[in-house]
Amino acid sequence: MFKKILVANRGEIALRIMQTCREMGISTVAVYSTADAESIHVKYADEAVCIGPALSRESYLNIPRIIAAAEVTNADAIHPGYGFLAENADFAEVCSSVNIKFIGPTAKMINQMGDKNTAKATMIAAGVPVVPGSQGLVSNLAEAVKTAQNTGYPVIIKPTAGGGGKGMRVVHEENQLEKALNTARSEAEQAFGNSGVYIEKFLENPRHVEIQILSDQHGNTIHLGERDCTVQRRHQKLIEETPSPAVDDALRKTMGDAAVAAAAAINYEGAGTIEFLLDKHGKFFFMEMNTRIQVEHPVTEERYDVDIVREQIIIADGQSIAGRTFTPKGHSIECRINAEDPDHLFRPSPGQLQVFHTPGGHGVRVDSHAYASYVVPSNYDSMIAKLIVTAHTRDEAIARMSRALDEFIVLGVKTTIPFHKQVMHSAVFQSGVFDTSFLESFRYEKS
Ligand code: ADP
Repeated sequence: MFKKILVANRGEIALRIMQTCREMGISTVAVYSTADAESIHVKYADEAVCIGPALSRESYLNIPRIIAAAEVTNADAIHPGYGFLAENADFAEVCSSVNIKFIGPTAKMINQMGDKNTAKATMIAAGVPVVPGSQGLVSNLAEAVKTAQNTGYPVIIKPTAGGGGKGMRVVHEENQLEKALNTARSEAEQAFGNSGVYIEKFLENPRHVEIQILSDQHGNTIHLGERDCTVQRRHQKLIEETPSPAVDDALRKTMGDAAVAAAAAINYEGAGTIEFLLDKHGKFFFMEMNTRIQVEHPVTEERYDVDIVREQIIIADGQSIAGRTFTPKGHSIECRINAEDPDHLFRPSPGQLQVFHTPGGHGVRVDSHAYASYVVPSNYDSMIAKLIVTAHTRDEAIARMSRALDEFIVLGVKTTIPFHKQVMHSAVFQSGVFDTSFLESFRYEKS
């Protein structure tokens, strides 16, 4: 087993990973930018190395500096968390070339799934249903027009290197296609350094349902059910839950089998998530695979009583997961608490926290790196906490989430807490019957 793991990340996920390491008796190394010198992950780790200034490119995305930190501290593995270098095949490759275990899949597997368009082709070959759309990238208007005519409007133009819901464009009519294609391509180039885009049928009123899988190095894959991430704002997840109100046992089995087949198709290793869109008729379509731990993993951990970070470490160590079973129980919901102002179009609200009082009690979990007097930097993503509750039923979980949100007091910056409170009270959310357009018609009452 590894003796020392360097965590190449910041914020709540860095802390989350180190907590598991401590339970497993593994020492930890934090890396940090100058903007994060006062961050808890730095204090919590056994050792910490400053890797550069605030700009991610010069610190959390700087491969040579992170590798140097691992070598100097004699770390034998690196956990990349999510975001930053988590799905960077070069980083995984460099780690393996200097004999440091990258806790995640190999560079080849990351490459196979990182390019979303190639991933779809792999899934078609593996017999997994995919969202209908272009065969390959779309480089000119004629190809775009032809694809859209085949699938029918509306269509969505998506960056092949995309992530975080960025750079996607929905097109309703042929005469909007040229402009949308050009904008999407230049936005993709700017955001991801890759102008490649592909086109899909824009499914109307789908739910976002994803399957968590674990695959070991010996060819065993198991799935840990689904997470429903249908509550989204501008294609970005805000609330996640498991089980999905739209998935019954039969559908869970079919989707789980498809996810396991998807992982098997690339001989996958590690924790991963297969993302699907689910239509009202129970038909589902592969969108993409995330080859890393996801933000919303705690809802699965709570319902299945599993520590996914621990599983990642065990798998990276070469142990087998054959015969392992995880029994689900209850209902789990997560709200992302962001330092954003819901009264003003969710604009970022960085700054110093005056008060940071977290909820507690039965069935409540808070994953956070924040504390009173902590300064939320403007350089990174705005999430300051994840609030996760678990109860016997969905109704009880919603009541518990409302109660926990009422107890959560953050002063000094604006947060999404008041917004989440209203969602929990909404009859539509409570009914469980909604789709990814739910928040477009949700009337948030300004505080
Ligand atoms: P990213 O990797 O940037 O998060 P995804 O491909 O996972 O992008 O899509 C994010 C969200 O955008 C989905 O959860 C869904 O709500 C919406 N979306 C993406 N593709 C489609 C599609 N073909 N039809 C309808 N909605 C889509």
